Amino acid sequence: MAYLIGIDIGTSSTKALLCTDEGRVVASAVLEYGVDNPQPLWSEQDPERWWAATVDTVKAVMDYAKIPGTEIGGIGLTGQMHGAVFMDADNNVLRPAILWNDQRTATECVEITEKAGGRDKLIGMVSNPALTGFTAPKILWVRKNEPEIYARVRKVLLPKDYIRFRMTGQFATDVSDASGTLLLDVKNRRWSDEMLQKLEIDRSLLPDCFESTVVSGKVTEEAAAEMGIAVGVPVVGGGGDQAAGAVGNGIVRPGVISATLGTSGVVFAFADTPAIDPQGRAHTFCHAAPGKWHVMGVMLSAGGSLQWFRNNLGEMEREQASRMKIDAYEILCEEAEDADPGCEGLVFLPYLTGERTPHANPNARGAWIGLTTRHGRAHMIRSIMEGVTFGMKDSLQIMRELGIPIGDIRCSGGGARSEFWLSVQADVYESPVCTINATDGPAFGAALLAGVGTGAWSSVEEACDSTINVISRTEPNEANYEIYRKSYAMFRKLYNSLREDFDIITSLAK
Ligand code: ADP
Repeated sequence: MAYLIGIDIGTSSTKALLCTDEGRVVASAVLEYGVDNPQPLWSEQDPERWWAATVDTVKAVMDYAKIPGTEIGGIGLTGQMHGAVFMDADNNVLRPAILWNDQRTATECVEITEKAGGRDKLIGMVSNPALTGFTAPKILWVRKNEPEIYARVRKVLLPKDYIRFRMTGQFATDVSDASGTLLLDVKNRRWSDEMLQKLEIDRSLLPDCFESTVVSGKVTEEAAAEMGIAVGVPVVGGGGDQAAGAVGNGIVRPGVISATLGTSGVVFAFADTPAIDPQGRAHTFCHAAPGKWHVMGVMLSAGGSLQWFRNNLGEMEREQASRMKIDAYEILCEEAEDADPGCEGLVFLPYLTGERTPHANPNARGAWIGLTTRHGRAHMIRSIMEGVTFGMKDSLQIMRELGIPIGDIRCSGGGARSEFWLSVQADVYESPVCTINATDGPAFGAALLAGVGTGAWSSVEEACDSTINVISRTEPNEANYEIYRKSYAMFRKLYNSLREDFDIITSLAK
């Protein structure tokens, strides 16, 4: 039997996962690290930290599984998207990597949109609008603000691709991760020469770009010795964390959608063709399944809204939970069930950290609207859960508008631990929702991609079919459709009514 390794270079930790070539997870290891914020809005990490964490976690899973290094059949890489690692001619890292959540590039985003000939032309070339998190604005920022460093840059790599370089000595990326650079012609799955030209970025700065299952290099002698595996193990393209996570959740067929309610919320849909939102509200990226795409909506403060309540207003629930030795979220969900659907007209706007999809508005704010003396804790908690679910529905609606079929909605993330929140989701989405057996997300998806690239399965679809099963299904309650439709319409209207006020409120807070 051969084994596969999936490695996820996350923002807060690196995870290595070892599974059999039948997809049975044998061991996993996580090593946490921090993010540096040397200035307000900046977010950076030293790529050396990722490599050290990769070596330690791979060694840990190998030690735990007690298998010889020669048994590893393939490695798949995934990780935080958009980050930029700048390297010189001697392959030294020139400055800390600038991460996806770094917000220093507002000016560069405007510049990119202008150079592209406007927002519509930009979306026409790279399928997405310029967002501060994306990679191209980071390259322009370094060129303008650190010209002495930029003069020495010979390669710009995404986080997981830096790890590939350390493992194999090869410069390569994959189409799903490259989709978040703003430099990929997403429709044709290759670097956009037109965009590179307009931004005056030399093509040689970018690595070669492959499909996610293609073997892009083999483990070098030096890396093999460090990680405790054999020389020559194939490393596949892998994928960005969202695409690899979707493979790990089996989102590889038309009609299969995932709704992940973690701190942030992500609605992810498979697409056979590059379905592009002309308004740029949802992202259209290449999928890690070869020749396929995905459309994705991202909510910034999804489960994060309930977390905010727990941390700031939920002292009672936290104390009760610690006495009962259970999770405070369980108590919050139980309380929420005491309120009726629609919360007697109480609506919560979940924009505690601004919003990405569908509003792309950093100034949007959270709010409870409709409070009366009849409302109590139960209504406040339930309205948070409903408001977050309405925010997720906004993304689903965009996908419906784009003609993407919506069948099987797979729920994951912390929010899927609650049967109550699953039922709210089913009622608001007006669709059955299910949960699946696989819970290792991107690292598992990366391992499956490694298996496909090295022949354990003949396709990504086959890999998912043979390893991922639905374990629960929650049917919607049609009796709740009407009240939720009305509440949802109000939720949408309130954002529009308050949009300009949010700008004024933001200026007051400065
Ligand atoms: P992250 O996105 O940070 O990796 P999770 O996927 O675990 O984290 O999601 C955390 C969020 O999920 C919390 O902020 C909370 O809103 C929600 N959550 C976690 N556990 C539960 C639970 N048992 N019931 C309801 N919601 C929960």
